[in-house]
Amino acid sequence: MESRAVLTIALLGHPVGHSLSPRIHNAAFGALGLPGHFVACDVLPERLETALAGLVALGFRGANVTIPHKEAVLPHLSDLSPAARAIGAVNTLVIDNGRISGHNTDHIGFLESLAPHRESLVGKRAVVLGAGGAARGVVHALQTGLRLAEILVLSRRPSQAQNLIDGVPGARTAPYEDRDEAARQADLVINTTPVGMLPRGAESPVSPAAFRAGQIAYDLIYNPARTTFLEHARREGAEAIGGLPMLVGQAAASFQLWTGREMPRQAVHRALEPVAP
Ligand code: NAP
Repeated sequence: MESRAVLTIALLGHPVGHSLSPRIHNAAFGALGLPGHFVACDVLPERLETALAGLVALGFRGANVTIPHKEAVLPHLSDLSPAARAIGAVNTLVIDNGRISGHNTDHIGFLESLAPHRESLVGKRAVVLGAGGAARGVVHALQTGLRLAEILVLSRRPSQAQNLIDGVPGARTAPYEDRDEAARQADLVINTTPVGMLPRGAESPVSPAAFRAGQIAYDLIYNPARTTFLEHARREGAEAIGGLPMLVGQAAASFQLWTGREMPRQAVHRALEPVAP
């Protein structure tokens, strides 16, 4: 990579209008004085392959990949990082000499945001609500980064949850209808479903009875910053963590892959201030 080459990065998703990633990465480029820019591209599923060829042809440095392309992109890549292979989903592409490699940094951001709780979670139980792309990264992080006694995955489609936990030691599934009770018995309750995301911010995947003091409630949703899930958890005495720290953590790991530079976190947090609580 030439040191003064302009680094152009895309976000490939559908839709992408809500994304904070352009704000994060453009603030980082600006603060470092690096010639680069990040542009959100709304790509229909049937245009994904053409869009990837376009990135290579136009000399893009890489991309972030989001809903609904995180798994669909896999067959089009030259190689995969070990974590992306284990997770079965990609959120970051790096383009070198016309070859596209796939990486996953979601699990890095998730684990980083739980670092202060790493010791207190040893031997404890986690409940994961939802079994989609983000849940795959979360379960990988829980399995490889924390020494939990149990990981319980609940999804409205039982086969999706079963698929996710296949081969994960210490993980099992439970019926989605039992989610309030399962969550109440857990020490760490993680919402990976989009239930509660704007514009349906009043919704929550569980009732307030799912929470108690001493728990950690973690919502991957960052829009709104304070979801109903987190408000209920807080009211019942649980500690609440929203999706913004994970978002910034995964962005920092992706930024490093594209630029070889550490993301300037303060500048990024300043750029997000209107969003962050
Ligand atoms: P996804 O692949 O579409 O998976 C969503 C999961 O939630 C699936 O298991 C889905 O089940 C389930 N679900 C959807 N609607 C539901 C409903 N009404 N009731 C119950 N379950 C429902 O999406 P994803 O990529 O995993 O993203 C999920 C959420 O995480 C989004 O809100 C996204 O913004 C957030 N996220 C945040 C970060 C971060 O850095 N903070 C990173 C990644 C994702 P079905 O398959 O049956 O629909």
